[in-house]
Parts: sequence; C-alpha cells; structure tokens
Amino acid sequence: REMKVFEALTIHTLPARLSTYPALQDRIGNDGNHWKVREVGDGNLNLVFIVEGDSGSAVVKQALPYVRLVGDSWPLPLKRSFFEYHALMRQEARHPGSTPEIFHFDAVQALIVMEFLSPHIILRRALIDGQQLPKIANDLGLFLARTLFRGSDLSMTARGRKDDLALFADNAEVCDITEALVFSEPYYDAPRNRHTSPQLDGIVAQIRADRDLKVEAQRLKHLFAASAETMLHGDLHSGSVMVTPDETRVIDPEFAFYGPMAFDVGMLLANFWMAYFSQSGHEEAGSRETMRTYLLGVVTETWSVFRAEFSRLWRTERTGMLYQVALFEEQGDILGAEQALDHVLHQIWVDMLGFAGVEMHRRILGLAHNADFETIADVDTRAWCETKALKLGRHLAVNRRQIYSIEEVNSLAELIE
Ligand code: ADP
Ligand code: MG
Ligand code: MG
Ligand code: MG
Repeated sequence: REMKVFEALTIHTLPARLSTYPALQDRIGNDGNHWKVREVGDGNLNLVFIVEGDSGSAVVKQALPYVRLVGDSWPLPLKRSFFEYHALMRQEARHPGSTPEIFHFDAVQALIVMEFLSPHIILRRALIDGQQLPKIANDLGLFLARTLFRGSDLSMTARGRKDDLALFADNAEVCDITEALVFSEPYYDAPRNRHTSPQLDGIVAQIRADRDLKVEAQRLKHLFAASAETMLHGDLHSGSVMVTPDETRVIDPEFAFYGPMAFDVGMLLANFWMAYFSQSGHEEAGSRETMRTYLLGVVTETWSVFRAEFSRLWRTERTGMLYQVALFEEQGDILGAEQALDHVLHQIWVDMLGFAGVEMHRRILGLAHNADFETIADVDTRAWCETKALKLGRHLAVNRRQIYSIEEVNSLAELIE
C-alpha cells in the first residue's frame, strides 16, 4: 500500500491512498468511501486538503516538487515537508498547544496529516475584516520567546543544538528563496518583482538608488544567512497564524532553519504594521479608527510579552553552554546575568527592526505580496497605504540603531505621510 515514489494527491485519489492508515481511520472514519475531500490551499507552495468522515476530520498538506504560485518552471525540493514536520514537533514541545496536532507524516509523499483547525481563520483575513482578536499578542509573544529561547544555545545542550543545526541546514533551497526575495530582489529591477504602478514608480526608483538602505539590507542578509542562533519558524507572517477569539495556532513552518532570533520577531511585527497601514483601504469614514489603535497595541504587547517571557526563561531556564549560571548566579552575581540579558535583548531589538523594515519592502516591491494591500480595490488608496509602509520600512532598516522604544516606532507609523 505504500507508494515508493512521490505522486501528488487529488481530491479523487486521496481516500483510496490514505484510508488504509489506522491512525487516519481512527481520526476520520474507517470507510474511505465516506470521506469528503476538498482542496483549500491558498498558499504559494503546497496542496492543502480538508478531509471529513464519519468520525472526524483532518487536514492533509502535501508539498509539490515546484513552487505552486509560479509552476514547474521553479522547482523546489519535497524535503521541505520533512522540515515542516520536524519544526512542528519542536514548536509543540517548546510551546505546547501552539501548533495543530500531527497525526501522520510520510516523507516519500511529502505529506503531513494534522488536526483540522476549525472554526479558526487565518489571522491576516481577520485583520483585513477588522476583527480584534484579544489574545494574539500574548500568545504570539510567548510563542516567539519560548521557541526562540528553547531552540538556542541558551537552553539546549551543545550537542543537541549542533545536531539540529545540521538537520535543518539541509533546508537550504527555501532559505535561498528568502535570501533572494526578502533581502535582494526588492532593491533592484529583478524579473519577479512587481509594484503598484505608476503610483509607486517614483519611490521605487528612490529605494533602488538608496545606498544606505541597500547596504543595510545586505547586512541583514548576512545576519540571516550566517547567524545560526536558533530554530526559526522562518515564515511567521499573519498568514501563518490561525485564530479564534480565544485560540492562536501557528502553522506552516516549512521555512524552518537555524537563523537569527530577531528574524521571526521582525517579520511578525512588520505584518502587524502593514495591517495597520492597510486599514484605510478597508474603511468607511473613520470606521477603522479603533482597529488602528488595536493593531498598534498588538505590536506593543507582542514585543513586551516577548521581552518579559524571554527574560523569565533567561532567569529560570538558562541550561545551555552560553552565559552559564556558574559564572553569574552561582557566584552571587545576579547583576552580571542581568547585564548579559540586556545585551542579548538589545541586539534582538536592533536586528528585529531591520528585519521588519525589509519585510515591509519585499511585500510591496517583490514577488510575494500580501492580501492586506492587494485587496484594496482603489489603486490610488492602495499606493498611498503602501507608500507609508515603504517609508517606515526604510527608516527602520537604516536607522534601527537610533530607535529606542516600540512606542517610538508606533508614533512614527501614525505620523508618516
Ligand atoms: P502554504 O505552505 O502553501 O502556504 P499553509 O500551511 O499556509 O500552506 O496552508 C494553506 C492554507 O490552508 C492556510 O492558509 C489555511 O487556510 C489552510 N490550512 C492549513 N493548515 C490548516 C489546518 N491545520 N487547519 C485548517 N486549515 C488549514
Ligand atoms: Mg502558508
Ligand atoms: Mg497561506
Ligand atoms: Mg508555506
């Protein structure tokens, strides 16, 4: 029954191919003929099926050997599914309850069978619709602190961390995508780019002629590629979070690899700032005023929860080979441990701002745009929202060492014209 070569599933072949697995019979129902299947993948890369049967439901996510958004002219290895599976297991261990439950993994077929999150919706969709989710800042702040801290040399054994570094190092092709699409292509006339034209033509020309910005983008790229601090989610935007008013789950870590702590934090906050700037494209006469206030509050709270939880883990779980307690607490040097924590958090802060800046640029200038802006029907309004995000992004990337608080960034977001 196990197929030895990869074959993409269809809604018609899925029941016959998967209903013989006991783990899935238990979850979905014994009789594959009663399974109802629909394909709901809205992402750029993979197939996603919802399967419902007599005893329950599941989601089947299958990688394709190419980038779905572009087609088979852009091959991408199936093994990203293996990394997604391993990342999900680690995230669940490091922050229990934060991911969908995993029922089955098949490396040859590059498929993961997991819990069907329902009635959860994609966070990006909720924010575009003007919904205020009360728990996301706390839940995502904790997710960031726990996954980033617990996947690093601050927590793991040196051997364990190096083994994981080696495992995830093979996820190189998806890193290539980030390295090209986030850090380089937005800053030159790359064939895969697009932007709202002609409205943004002027600012796009300015950005590509901005020497300081290009240098900073390359410094950030260097950090991304060379600073293997912790296991990142790697694609932590608001389309990788599913929510209800009282639950937050993180999905889609197929870009997981060992990189700088600040990357996931910066990408997530950038997506909140873009949601903020896009609100005026979705509003009728001031109707999104409270939504804007809410979104800046989410930014502030996510960052402060991240800091507080990271600090708590530093004080209570610092079991790795860095900043050993033998050097500090065990000699009565509490201040030394706190001083080192300040240095680490400060570096994450400065780098996070830079990653947020380039993330905002690439979503407006590069290949992969986001629905927050794309769904704004009036093109002039869209360009006006995008321009603000581009300006904030430029400021964060270039001046990040001279920015001192998250409130300062939020005030700039409010002031920018
Ligand atoms: P891709 O890697 O192609 O972006 P995602 O993992 O983001 O794929 O999934 C694409 C879409 O499928 C999501 O936006 C969401 O709507 C849906 N989806 C994915 N996983 C689940 C799940 N466990 N439960 C419910 N819906 C899901
Ligand atoms: Mg996705
Ligand atoms: Mg998606
Ligand atoms: Mg994905």
